[in-house]
Amino acid sequence: MKADEDLQNVGRVGLPLAPAFNWSVGNWMEQFFDGLKERKIMASKCGLCGRVFLPPRMICERCFAKTEEWVEIPETGTVEAFTAAHVRVGPDGELADLPEPQLIALVKHDEADTLLVAGLVAKNASAGMRVRVVWNETPSGALDAISCYEPMD
Ligand SMILES: [Zn+2]
Repeated sequence: MKADEDLQNVGRVGLPLAPAFNWSVGNWMEQFFDGLKERKIMASKCGLCGRVFLPPRMICERCFAKTEEWVEIPETGTVEAFTAAHVRVGPDGELADLPEPQLIALVKHDEADTLLVAGLVAKNASAGMRVRVVWNETPSGALDAISCYEPMD
């Protein structure tokens, strides 16, 4: 009984830690990011079933073969789904309201079999809309190399 009470009356102290992490993305994502720096969209392809993964995956989800072929994918694609974000996640994980909703789209690039996610700038967004990549003119790295998608017309 005494042990239970002790466990429920544990003192808590907050520690304001902000550790920085460097995370290895691995060979497959590294090749994808290296491509983005040169404005190339690189996908991995399964040598057995031919499935093309964007973003690249090391192992095919269908036949479990290692994907060792690389293909450059067009900047164009089709919106499969989209949503409107009303908040953003800040650098410390806190939520902040956006001044106006921002569209986020799942896009199936031409010649790819999987979907890439990025912002979408369009007045009348719809599933099936044809879009192209808008490259960031001053990217801080590979993660923001693709600024957003825009309608092709
Ligand atoms: Zn496969």
